[in-house]
Amino acid sequence: MIYLDAAATTPVKREVLEAMWPYLTGEFGNPSSHHGVGESASRALADARRTLAEWLGCRPAEVVFTSGGTEADNLAVKGIALGNPRGRHVVLSAVEHPAVVESVEFLERMHGFAVSVVPVDRYGLIDPDAFAEVLRPDTTLATVMTANNEIGTVQPIARLGEIARAAGVPFHSDAVQAAGWLDVRLDSLGVDALSISGHKLGAPKGVGVLAVRQRLLLEPVVHGGGQERGRRSGTENVAFAVGLAAAVRSMSPADVAAAAARTTALRDEFIGVVLREVPDARFTGHPQLRLPSVASFCFPGTSGEAVLLQLEERGVIVSSGSACAAGSDDPSPVLLAIGLAPEVAQTAVRFTLTPDTTRDELTAAAHALRDSVAALAALR
Ligand code: PLP
Repeated sequence: MIYLDAAATTPVKREVLEAMWPYLTGEFGNPSSHHGVGESASRALADARRTLAEWLGCRPAEVVFTSGGTEADNLAVKGIALGNPRGRHVVLSAVEHPAVVESVEFLERMHGFAVSVVPVDRYGLIDPDAFAEVLRPDTTLATVMTANNEIGTVQPIARLGEIARAAGVPFHSDAVQAAGWLDVRLDSLGVDALSISGHKLGAPKGVGVLAVRQRLLLEPVVHGGGQERGRRSGTENVAFAVGLAAAVRSMSPADVAAAAARTTALRDEFIGVVLREVPDARFTGHPQLRLPSVASFCFPGTSGEAVLLQLEERGVIVSSGSACAAGSDDPSPVLLAIGLAPEVAQTAVRFTLTPDTTRDELTAAAHALRDSVAALAALR
């Protein structure tokens, strides 16, 4: 099998599982318990929190463990927008993940928020001037993802952060796809809050982080026993937090930079082969300002789903559109936002590389793709 769907999920790394194991078995304590078993769990959680804080360039107290990227996005959007007394207006880009989009729609529906959507150009990039224009004195939150999960486009987050800061608007970024490839420290990105998900990084599904500056008022979404400094109640998932920290420790900045450079070169070679060998293939996203890992295309005249199945028969695992829009046949709002016609958007296929993807795998995948599209054309 050639797995080219790393943006959907990644396997748990061995060192991650080994780090987690003790906290699922012998060291099984509840970190809130006032006895030795609990204290050992509490120490492990604190240690994991320190690792995450160091990686994200924030204080340990600014790390909130969540059940994943979706919950981190929900907590950021609802928590900051509702916690901030400035007003009832939120800003988001036209290419956000459903976890952000649906949270904003909730605020609109249930709390009467006004919403401004900042459009993107044909590459999926937002224009900083257009972003600046929609910020208002009553804007309680602006949220723009660091990198897009469908087309890989990387936004000018640091510039947007400067604009938001000058306007006094709290700024959140969903960095679920960027983490592991780009520098995601809060200060480098110029954000006040950042969402991360473990299962994109070799940690298990079901753990994530919202890093959020302490000065922001954050209204909790999950109420209960007051864990995570009252920002996210519920007994902490110690083993998964330890696993996420182990995944982070396994990625030194030097390794990440080297993997990004290597993967970018392989990705560009792959894109070139596909555009040469697959008739009518259309590349989506920005040619340079994109994640090293993402090669995304449309194949007009096919359907993304049919290409996916053809590729799977040939041993190549990819995604059609976004795995996050589970079960949806509607064309992706992201692809519509970059100006594709609905019938072209339906033909989207995304290949996402891991740091271990090889040139041979990509050569085989490109040939399988050429054969798949040809097989579908023969059926028409
Ligand atoms: N945000 C982005 C950009 C994503 O790609 C994903 C998942 O693919 C999520 C959020 C949701 O993360 P999780 O699967 O951990 O809930």
